[in-house]
Amino acid sequence: MGLVDDVLADGIGGLGHNAITGRLEDLINWARSRSSWPASFGLACCAIEMMGTGGAHYDISRFGMEVFRASPRQADIMIVAGRVSQKMAPVLRQVYDQMMEPKWVISMGVCASSGGMFNNYAVVQGVDQIVPVDVYAPGCPPTPETLIHAIETLHQKIEDGEILKRRAETGAGANLHIEEIA
Ligand code: SF4
Repeated sequence: MGLVDDVLADGIGGLGHNAITGRLEDLINWARSRSSWPASFGLACCAIEMMGTGGAHYDISRFGMEVFRASPRQADIMIVAGRVSQKMAPVLRQVYDQMMEPKWVISMGVCASSGGMFNNYAVVQGVDQIVPVDVYAPGCPPTPETLIHAIETLHQKIEDGEILKRRAETGAGANLHIEEIA
């Protein structure tokens, strides 16, 4: 069916079926994947490696993300670098809520992903209890190479549109409110 037939059959939703808008969506996802700015948000020792990744030697400006933003409203990616204390959890969620959609989260290091060696009441046992995590970077701490691999994995997912499709289907990340974790 052509574009006109699609629109006649499905209304404006028919635009989603054709080659032109499909390619436009691909272009937007490609641009998003290569202009994703991280929020400045370091929690513990992992943040040192994150800062190293942002330095001249590893040069993440190659991926269009050299600009770490101090304001969450200007950031696209939250890199959770380090263990998340229970007291920090509502703050982290608030920073996430202040970021504009579309937004993505990388959990950096074993502490952020599972609590790591801090298996106690003071530390959140996995930041995915607080915000929806898209990519996990393993290690204690993950090296800049590991973080770059996580970033490239995320970029591929952004380009595929996989994450946004999942969010649209499950509503992940939209249902938690700060009152629920405070
Ligand atoms: Fe520190 Fe290792 Fe935990 Fe990262 S994973 S915050 S380096 S103890």
